[in-house]
Amino acid sequence: MAEHYKPTKYKAWELTLEERFQEVYPPFSQRDAVLEANRCLYCHDAPCMVACPTGIDIPTFIRKIATGNVKGSAKTILESNLMGATCARVCPVQVLCEGDCVLHADEKPIAIGRLQRYATDYANEKGIRFFKAGQPNGKKVAVVGGGPAGLSCGGELAKLGFAVTIYEKKVWAGGLSTYGIVVFREPVEVSLAEVKMIEELGVTIRNGIEIGKDLTFEELLAENDAIFVSIGLGNVPEMEIPGEDLDGVHDGLDFVEETKTEALNTIKFGKRVCVVGAGNTAIDCATIARRLGAERVTMIYRRSEAEMPAYHFEYEFALKEGVSFMFLTQPVEILGKDGKVHGVKCVRMDLGQPDASGRRRPVHVPDSEFVVPCDMLIKAIGQVKPEGVISMLTPFGIETEKGYIKVDEHNRTAHSKIFAGGDCIRSHGEASTVMAVQDGKIAAASMAEQLVGVARPLAEAVSKR
Ligand SMILES: Cc1cc2nc3c(=O)[nH]c(=O)nc-3n(C[C@H](O)[C@H](O)[C@H](O)COP(=O)(O)OP(=O)(O)OC[C@H]3O[C@@H](n4cnc5c(N)ncnc54)[C@H](O)[C@@H]3O)c2cc1C
Ligand code: SF4
Repeated sequence: MAEHYKPTKYKAWELTLEERFQEVYPPFSQRDAVLEANRCLYCHDAPCMVACPTGIDIPTFIRKIATGNVKGSAKTILESNLMGATCARVCPVQVLCEGDCVLHADEKPIAIGRLQRYATDYANEKGIRFFKAGQPNGKKVAVVGGGPAGLSCGGELAKLGFAVTIYEKKVWAGGLSTYGIVVFREPVEVSLAEVKMIEELGVTIRNGIEIGKDLTFEELLAENDAIFVSIGLGNVPEMEIPGEDLDGVHDGLDFVEETKTEALNTIKFGKRVCVVGAGNTAIDCATIARRLGAERVTMIYRRSEAEMPAYHFEYEFALKEGVSFMFLTQPVEILGKDGKVHGVKCVRMDLGQPDASGRRRPVHVPDSEFVVPCDMLIKAIGQVKPEGVISMLTPFGIETEKGYIKVDEHNRTAHSKIFAGGDCIRSHGEASTVMAVQDGKIAAASMAEQLVGVARPLAEAVSKR
């Protein structure tokens, strides 16, 4: 882990509960930001910029910080990525912009994420707005889902003069930035400030409206010139083993959401917690449980360390937080007493031939059963595909790919008025916030080209306005 990614030293016994849920990485002071910005070589054809999915002009925004133009720096970032404050906090920078920094090889890379956070927080704290709604062009677009993809698409369209309504089934918009990313990585306020910025661009956000239930796609199609579908994914799937209905068994996403929406001292957690899964959500659940005060947190994963889907830096973070790992282990039954979980029966696994995912298939080791005692079990084995909503789209000719909505490179579906983006189209590759933001931009550019004839190069430059 790069030096500047070392979190604030965490000594639970020295911190209050609220302090344990503060942002892990402290903000840069003005002095530190300028010092860090001055390390940048301002490369021509900067590789960091190519590695950023939203193509932020990184050398320019860093140079502006170095010369004291923090406002201008924030503008440069937001021109390419309206969710710049969220991305500054959640992007896996080690495998994106910072991973490609030319200083990586010899010394530590430039702390691009933290500099981006410094500039975007400055603009947000001062209430600075850089963009306004474009001249109305008479076209209406409905966005289904108010996560990063939907907000990005809505904001870019509003800049071009489209009348945009985002329909969001939850009480607040922001998607997983609001409800799913752990609070010590992104506080709810950061996500809601971005939602406010999009609303101030003239986008209408109708919270508490679920498309498919409160309104139909037929109604949206009749009333709008285009629809952008950005519904994300669903909850954690069932493990399909006995005991899942016991008290003390939790859905990982619900658990994270609780810590973002409820008072921390009201959240119930176990002393001995097992987390099933080894992706980034599982790591989040495990580290939250530790920070809430769980004495022992064990992550259980059926493959080995080499196959775990979490980023390596997330794994290192969990280890530092005192989380232990049980690899090559598969839960087969959740054990209960008086209706409450008190352990999980597991079997040992071995790795066989590669399966369809290219990873070696785990196979049971005979007669290897054992019990891991626990009083809380968190399921964090991924997210289900939103099959219900997708099935409502099939009558319109929408095709799917591995259960995700199928789109072309311009984020168009098979229906000329329906576009899609974000996690609900990500049949290949990593699902991430910055990719969802870029999907929103691409779809906005495609709609502008199709509906008002904005030539693609211009449409793609929409974010530079
Ligand atoms: C626990 C967790 C941690 C993560 N951590 C990171 C991280 O550190 N870094 C990173 O880059 N990515 C992370 N991700 C992934 C990232 O959050 C997603 O890739 C990103 O949020 C996808 O954006 P989206 O807009 O496609 O979907 P979402 O953020 O899921 O938003 C979809 C929205 O659509 C709404 N919706 C769904 N159906 C309907 C309907 N029928 N009608 C109306 N509204 C509807 C939902 O309520 C939701 O608000 C994490 C994901 C999880 C689950
Ligand atoms: S948006 Fe993410 S990948 Fe792009 S420069 Fe910012 S932190 Fe790096």
